[in-house]
Amino acid sequence: MDVMKRLENRQEVLWLNPGWESMKPRSVVDGYGFVPIKAAQNRMMRFIRYIARAFPETEKRAGVIESSLIEIPHMRQWLNECGASIKGRLFLKDDAHLPIAGSVKARGGIHEVMKIAEYVGQKEDKLWPADDYTKIDSDEFRQMYSRYTIQVGSTGNLGISIGRMAARLGFRAIVHMSSDAKQWKKDLLRSEGVIVKEYQGDYSEAVAAGRRESASDERSFFVDDENSEELFFGYATAALRVKAQLRRLKIRADGEHPLFLYLPCGVGGAPGGITFGFRQMFGDHAHCFFAEPVEAPCFLLGMASGKGSDICVQDIGLTGKTMADGLAVARASSFSCARMKKMMSGAFTVADEKMALYQKKIRDLEKIRLEPSACAGFEGLLLASEYQSNEDGKRGDVWKEYIESHGLTPFLDQATHIVWGTGGGLMPEE
Ligand SMILES: *Cc1c(COP(=O)(O)O)cnc(C)c1O
Repeated sequence: MDVMKRLENRQEVLWLNPGWESMKPRSVVDGYGFVPIKAAQNRMMRFIRYIARAFPETEKRAGVIESSLIEIPHMRQWLNECGASIKGRLFLKDDAHLPIAGSVKARGGIHEVMKIAEYVGQKEDKLWPADDYTKIDSDEFRQMYSRYTIQVGSTGNLGISIGRMAARLGFRAIVHMSSDAKQWKKDLLRSEGVIVKEYQGDYSEAVAAGRRESASDERSFFVDDENSEELFFGYATAALRVKAQLRRLKIRADGEHPLFLYLPCGVGGAPGGITFGFRQMFGDHAHCFFAEPVEAPCFLLGMASGKGSDICVQDIGLTGKTMADGLAVARASSFSCARMKKMMSGAFTVADEKMALYQKKIRDLEKIRLEPSACAGFEGLLLASEYQSNEDGKRGDVWKEYIESHGLTPFLDQATHIVWGTGGGLMPEE
């Protein structure tokens, strides 16, 4: 109840998941395990030669859509001056600079469009898994795909990911945008032939409109961010990639080397999928915390109340409005809530002014440009600070409880912290 009161009062809170369970890597949990992640990874690999050809920006990674894991020592020092007391190493997972979408949505969104492209290709007897997928980049395939429509509701970035990929393949693409969506995101999509429909209401309304419009057309596919498994497991593949990146950096993640992740959360698909992937790869050694704006903490609210997607932030008097447009979501994904019950470590909220400050600091200190949504995770490093615990009561104590109950106190010097920088790569200079 304490957490609920604090959410209502727009205080920054830290909530620990009481349902967290210990699990070994590759465990099957409630029917879901490693298999769908591997299937998503395999699908992405089937497409790499097509991607390398269709999106020249992916050439230097040979068509693999991946971002760098960047150590950010200046940001670490600044956070420590603010009271963070980070002892281990601090990294940014730079998904803002994932090709094609400029955000974490390149993982889930592009994977789901690939799945639709394969489905249609097989239905029309033109594309089979053993084929050379470069043939997709042809007038024949574009003509075939132009008879089908892909639709999505979005606060912006999912629209960019789905819209760009779908349009490049030749599909008719329609993106239903909420009022939070930034103008430059709409302009970018329109310039590439994507149909953008705008709504006065919030994200849920845009999704509902898209779902309705798609249902009335049997040649239309709807990417359902509130329930999609294809998005979720597309996001989950990130863990396989990061595992390889950590190995290359000779960084261990095990019982004596905890791995902390701080994941900006909107509807919960991206942080949920990433968490699922990390628990599949690292078991109990990955500690995954979600970050949400104080005005739009839909996932924390759904999990802490036990109501999942049956409750929205307006139900407790919040507006859902935030400068972090990528996180401006009032109701959580039911699929992700269900998957996270035993997997996520916890969630915290962060004020808009802090996101703006972190955005400025990472630009000034590390020369990395992120959008406000992408900076929510930095607050995670301050959860432990004395300063915070004096200022607003309990957050520092809650953090301490997590560290102690997981036996992590002796290993904090050897910890690795990863802040997920979820978007901003396509953001215009102004
Ligand atoms: C979409 C998005 C998120 C969160 O992803 P969800 O699946 O909505 O939880 C975080 N940051 C940015 C920049 C995003 O675009």
